[in-house]
Amino acid sequence: MEAIRRTRISDLLKSTAYGTTVNVRGWVRTRRSSKQVAFVALNDGSTINNVQVVMDVDKFDEELIKLLTTGACLSVNGTLVESIGGGQSVEIQAAEIEVLGECDNTYPLQKKGQTMEYMRTVAHLRARTNTFGAVFRIRHNMAYAIHKFFHDKGFYYFHTPIITASDCEGAGQMFQVTTMNLYDLKKDDEGNIKYDNDFFGKQASLTVSGQLEGELAATALGAIYTFGPTFRAENSNTPRHLAEFWMIEPEVAFNDIIDNMDLAEEFIKYCVQWALDHCMEDLEFLNKMIDKELIERLRSIVDTKFVRLSYTEGIKILEDAVAGGHKFEFPVYWGVDLASEHERYLVEHHFKSPVILTDYPKEIKAFYMKQNEDGKTVRAMDVLFPKIGEIIGGSEREADYNKLLTRIEELGIPMKDMWWYLDTRRYGSCPHSGFGLGFERLLLFVTGMSNIRDVIPFPRTPNNADF
Ligand code: ATP
Ligand code: MN
Repeated sequence: MEAIRRTRISDLLKSTAYGTTVNVRGWVRTRRSSKQVAFVALNDGSTINNVQVVMDVDKFDEELIKLLTTGACLSVNGTLVESIGGGQSVEIQAAEIEVLGECDNTYPLQKKGQTMEYMRTVAHLRARTNTFGAVFRIRHNMAYAIHKFFHDKGFYYFHTPIITASDCEGAGQMFQVTTMNLYDLKKDDEGNIKYDNDFFGKQASLTVSGQLEGELAATALGAIYTFGPTFRAENSNTPRHLAEFWMIEPEVAFNDIIDNMDLAEEFIKYCVQWALDHCMEDLEFLNKMIDKELIERLRSIVDTKFVRLSYTEGIKILEDAVAGGHKFEFPVYWGVDLASEHERYLVEHHFKSPVILTDYPKEIKAFYMKQNEDGKTVRAMDVLFPKIGEIIGGSEREADYNKLLTRIEELGIPMKDMWWYLDTRRYGSCPHSGFGLGFERLLLFVTGMSNIRDVIPFPRTPNNADF
C-alpha cells in the first residue's frame, strides 16, 4: 500500500481539502454493503464521530471485504470527498485498504445496547464504545482544565506521598503496604505485629488524602493543589465510592472559610464551563443516550449562585420535611452525619440548587478543622450537588497550636504521626483553608453517568480489581 501520512479522524472531519489523497486508521464500528458499494464506519478514538469509508465493491477482493468486521483495525488510503448524505460533511472514497488486525465474531462489543454491568466485565475493551470513549475524553479534558485553572491562578502543583506511615486520618480504612511474609508474621509477646523489619521499619499504608502534607506546602508556597490517587478500604458498595480514586486538594494560606467557599464554587463552575466549551460533541452524545437533562443541568450550574447555609439550618429543614411526612431511610437529628439521601433532599427538593453546608458538629468532622466559638461546631464546608450528594469536603484549618494539640490528645491520635504537622502551628502559624474534590464525583456530574465505576477506566471496588 502507498505510504501516506495518517490523518486523525477529528482533523479529517473538519477538512475541506476535497480531492486530496488521505490515510486514516482506526477500528470498524459498522459495515453495510449492497451489490455495488460497501460502507464502513471507522473510528480512531480522536472524536466520537466516525468517518464513512465508501468502497466500490468491484474494485476490492471479496475475501478482503469479508474481513471488514466490527472491531477490525484498518488502514485506508482514499480520496477525501464531500459527503452527499446527511451526517458528516466528508467521507473517503477508498482506493486501498489494509487490514492491520482482524476481529472475529467472538468480539464482545458487537451487539449494541449492552448493560453497564456487562460493560464492566469487558472494561479492557469498553473504551472502544461511543459511551466510554466520550467519558474518557471528557475525563482527560477535566484533568487538563483543573491544572489550567490552578496554574492560571498562581497555585503550584505539589506532589504528596502515596505511601504514608501516619494513620491519623483514615484509621481502619487504609490499605496496608508491606513486604513482610504474611505466612510467617513476627509478633511480640503481646501478639502485636513487629514492623521493625518491615520495609519502612514501621507500619505503612496507602494515603487516604494528601491534605496534611498539602498544608505544609501551603504554609511555604502560599497556594498549592494536589491531584493524585487516594485509597480507601471502606467497604461501601455504593454508586459513589471507589477504593482507588483521584482527588484534587487545593490548600491556601490566608484563606478563611468564605474564601474557601468562593474558590470551590469558582473552581467547579470553571470545570463545568470547560466541558461545555470543549467537549460538546461528547456531551451531546451522552445527553441523547444517557441523561436527557445533562446539558441543561450543566448550563444551569454555571449560572446558579450556590446556596450557603449552616449544618444546623440544614438539619431544621430536614426535620421539617420529616414532620411534613417525608420518609428518609436514615434518621435526622442534630449531630447526625448526613446520608446522601439527606444531602440530595436539600439540593434536589428544597433548594433546587447546589448547596454549601457549613459549620458541622465537631464530633463528625476531622480533628484539624477550625473550632468555632460555640464549642460545638467546626468551620467545615461540604459542597452538595444534584445527583451526587457530597462532591467536595473542606474546611478552614485550626491554626491555633494549643487548640489543635488539645483536640489531637482528646482523640488519642499518636504524637509520632503528628509532630511534623504540629510544627506548622508552632513556627509561623497562619490561617489557611482547603478542600478535597473527588475527581470521579465531578465526572459523574459532568458526564451524567450514574455509577462511579463507569467514569474511571479500571475501577477498584470491594471484590474487584480486574484488569
Ligand atoms: P462520603 O461521605 O461521600 O463518603 P467523605 O466525607 O468520606 O465522603 P472526604 O474525606 O471529605 O470524603 O473526601 C473529599 C472528597 O473525596 C469527597 O467530597 C468526595 O468527592 C471524594 N470521595 C471521598 N471518598 C470517596 C470514594 N470512596 N470514592 C470516590 N470519591 C470519594
Ligand atoms: Mn467529606
